This record gives sequence, C-alpha cells and structure tokens, in this order.
Amino acid sequence: MGLAFPYFCWMNLSAPAQIANYIGGKLQAPLNNRYLPNVNPATGEEYSQTPDSDHADVSAAEEAARGAFAAWSVTPAEERFRLLNRIADLIDQNLEALALAETNDNGKPLWLSKRVDIPRASSNFRFFATGIMHVSTESHGMEDKAINYTLRQPVGVVGCISPWNLPLYLFTWKIAPALAAGNCVVAKPSEVTPMTAYLLSLICIEAGLPAGVLNIVHGGGPECGAAIVAHPGIKAISFTGSTRAGKQIAATAAPMFKKISLELGGKNPNIIFADCDWEKMIRTTLQSSFSNQGQICLCGSRILIEESIYEKFKTEFVARARKLTPGDPLDDNSKQGAVVSKLHYDKVLACIALAQEEGGTVLAGGQAVKGSGRCADGLFIAPTVIEGLGANCRTNMEEIFGPVVTLQPFKTEDEALQLANTSDYGLSATIWTQDVSRANRVAMKVQSGIIWVNCWLLRDLRTPFGGFKNSGVGREGGWDALRFFTEPKNVCIEL
Ligand code: NAD
Repeated sequence: MGLAFPYFCWMNLSAPAQIANYIGGKLQAPLNNRYLPNVNPATGEEYSQTPDSDHADVSAAEEAARGAFAAWSVTPAEERFRLLNRIADLIDQNLEALALAETNDNGKPLWLSKRVDIPRASSNFRFFATGIMHVSTESHGMEDKAINYTLRQPVGVVGCISPWNLPLYLFTWKIAPALAAGNCVVAKPSEVTPMTAYLLSLICIEAGLPAGVLNIVHGGGPECGAAIVAHPGIKAISFTGSTRAGKQIAATAAPMFKKISLELGGKNPNIIFADCDWEKMIRTTLQSSFSNQGQICLCGSRILIEESIYEKFKTEFVARARKLTPGDPLDDNSKQGAVVSKLHYDKVLACIALAQEEGGTVLAGGQAVKGSGRCADGLFIAPTVIEGLGANCRTNMEEIFGPVVTLQPFKTEDEALQLANTSDYGLSATIWTQDVSRANRVAMKVQSGIIWVNCWLLRDLRTPFGGFKNSGVGREGGWDALRFFTEPKNVCIEL
C-alpha cells in the first residue's frame, strides 16, 4: 500500500495510493469515500485502491458532461483533431509508464503492453482525430422540387464501459470516436484494471481537454456501471464485456430507447484444413490460442482440424504449448503472464475441471503454475489443450476466456461448418486453407462478424468490428463508430 510510481516521471508525479475519479476536469475522491482493492495478479500484492463510486458520482459526471456539451459539440473539428492528437502524443511519450501500469494491473507481459496495448491506445485517438476531419454527409436532390441534406449531430452525453482484458486499448477505442464526434463522455474502466484509465485522466488534464468533456468514474459494474446505463441524461451506451452484463444493459436501456453498442463474449472457431501453410498456421494458432493468457475476445478457443492432419497437429501444437511456461510479466522472456484476478483464476481452473468431468483429456497444462521470487503468490495457469469432447458440451459452448483450447477433428467442409456454427456466440473465426474458393465459401457460411483467412488479429481500424448472435449488437470501428456516436437529421428544403 502507499506505493509511489517512480516510473511515472513524465510530469514528475508519483501516483497516489488511491486512484481518483476525473469529473469536471478535476481529480476527485468518490463521494461515498469507499474504495476497492487494486491487486497485482502476478504478485498478489494489493498495491493501490480504486474508487467504489456509485450513482452520486455518476450524476456529478453526467452534470459536468452536460455542462460541457454546448461548447464541445460546436468546437470546430480542427480543434477536436488537435486535442485528440495531443492526447495521443502524450500517450506515446509515456509509453513506458503506461505499459508498466497496465502490466501491474492486468498481469500481461510487459513486452506485450509496450508492443500492443499502449501503442494501440494512441492509435485509437489518432485514427478518430483524423477520421473526424474527413466526415462528409449525404444529400438527396429531388430534381427541381427540393433538396435533402443529412446532418450528423453528436448524440449528447454518452456512456462508455470497458473490460479488463485490454484495459486502455478498449477504453480509448470507445472514448476516442465519442469525443471526435462531439459528444461528452462518462466513462468507466473495469474496476479490476483501473490504473491506465486514471493515468489517462492526468494526460487529458495536461493536454488541455476542456473540463467535463471526458469524465472517468471508477467503480464496480452492478453499482457504478449500472448507474451509467440507467441515468436518463446519458443517451447512448457503448459497452464491451460479458454477454451476461450485456443482457442486463440491454434490458435497462431498451425502455429508455437508448442507443446501445454491445461487444460481448466469444467462443471462436479456428478451422484448419489439411492444405494450409503449416508453419504459419501452427505459429499463429499458438498465438490465437494463448496470447494475453487467452484473455482476448478474439482468441480461437475451439480448434477444428481436418482429420487427415489431426494427429500431426496435436503432436506439434501440444509440444509448443508446453513450452509456453508462464513467468514474471516483467521478464522479457516470459511468453505468458498471470491471469487477471483470483476470481478469474478460480473460474478458469473450474472450467478445466469441468472439461475433465465431461470426459475431456488434458494433453497439455491443465493446472496452476507456481511462480517464483516476487511472483510466488501470482495467478499463473499453464496453457491448456484438451481433446475428446463433443461440440455441445459446456466446455465447447461456454466462454472460458483463459489459456484453454479444445481440439475437435472434422472430415468434411460441411462438418467443419456445422461444428463452427454450433455456438450461441458469433464474434470471430479463423480459416486456414490455401484454396481461395474454399476460404470464400467457408467465410460466407460461418456465423461470425469477423473472419480471418490465413491470419489472426490483423486489424484495420476502418473495418466493422463486432459479432453475431450472443456476441453483441452493433459494430465499432471506422465510420460505424462515428455513426453510432451521431444522430442523423434530415433537412428537406423545397426549392
Ligand atoms: P464484465 O461484463 O464483467 O465487465 C465489463 C465492464 O462492465 C466492467 O467495467 C464492469 O465493471 C462493467 N459491468 C459489469 N456489470 C455491469 C452492469 N450490470 N451494468 C453496467 N456495467 C457493468 O466483463 P469482464 O469480465 O470485464 O470482461 C470479459 C468479457 O468481456 C468476456 O466475456 C469477453 O469476451 C468480453 N470482451 C468482449 C470484447 C469484444 O470486443 N466483443 C472485447 C473484450 C472483452
């Protein structure tokens, strides 16, 4: 407790042991003065505390956002572009500090935070800062009778709620388009990984973002998150998280006719045909299975393999998975870090036990791994590979969101498709084949919003991002995000 942040030296600041909310341009303690523990999952150390805010803080944030909206909504796009780029620059300048904070909160390897999470957060701001400079709206002429033109106006005060797996990356993926489009924001990061969102509030102050334009309220889901969703002044909700919470949000928002964008869970198939580029496939499949300890909504947790290469795949994949021993996230040689929390660690281990009860055979991993040195109390789980389970068992139907994958063989393309689509989820899918016609046929029939062929997690921020079925409602990315955060208004002028 009381840990200073010697690495956070950009403004010569040390972060407090207690994180603060960012409301109306100021850092503020929660009104109820309640806090939640903030634990480093790689060490077990409670190293700071995060506000356990409630509806009173959310109301204060909404009021601040409402007050800022009149000016921000008509601030010229050039000025929004400048400010958002300034925030991006400050994120880049503080890469080391932000990456370390992300790793201490989340347990992911520091090299991953540096290479992926923090650079993507600044890219999100740059991408939407630039995007807003290129917006054009439609006009519909009615010969010599009339002209219609469509305005795209900001929605007002909007809510952005994000999860713990890619904390700053996903938080900024929502905030950046919302601000770029001229909205004011009440945002809540996951209470499990709040530190980089707190550091972002310091960056926004340094960047000169006008007070109230962005408000960051920290707290738990059922109280603070639910208060954002239920607040009548907050007109749209952009949410990324579990399908369970997504259902509750949809139920609250529907009778209030709020716009919602829900990016939810996944149980993604990774379909491997015998004619794939073997080396690239096996290398990438290892990443798509276990990156970020399998805690990416896009990880391919159900690996479907053509029968003729099943044994070869199993032998090589299991051998490679066994080499991915988790270790101290601060060590550059650690390919795997800790899972995010004790709650999640217990859940993942219970899922592995369930898979065995269901008749699955554990080929690799299957157990917790004891850390050493400062990580002796860390939450490490060995990358786990399971075979022998049917498509409809709980292990293959329910999201685990950890370093656990299952293997299932298939004989024909039709069977592969049937297995792939045996899921209530439909977020992403990966297809491995050298046959372009087959890749296209299968891509057309897989019920997922995002399909990768012979690659994984190759992201173009302009593309629509989101899922079918229980994986969500709406799309993020590119114009989809800017459309979500604006209301179209048609103006018809008779000539
Ligand atoms: P979660 O649903 O428990 O929490 C997500 C966020 O919502 C947190 O900030 C939490 O405090 C808040 N929250 C929880 N209940 C709420 C409620 N009733 N009302 C309002 N807010 C509430 O999810 P998590 O455990 O943080 O994240 C893991 C989940 O997120 C997985 O299911 C994963 O697949 C999903 N995810 C999806 C995507 C995607 O793009 N589709 C990306 C990343 C993670």
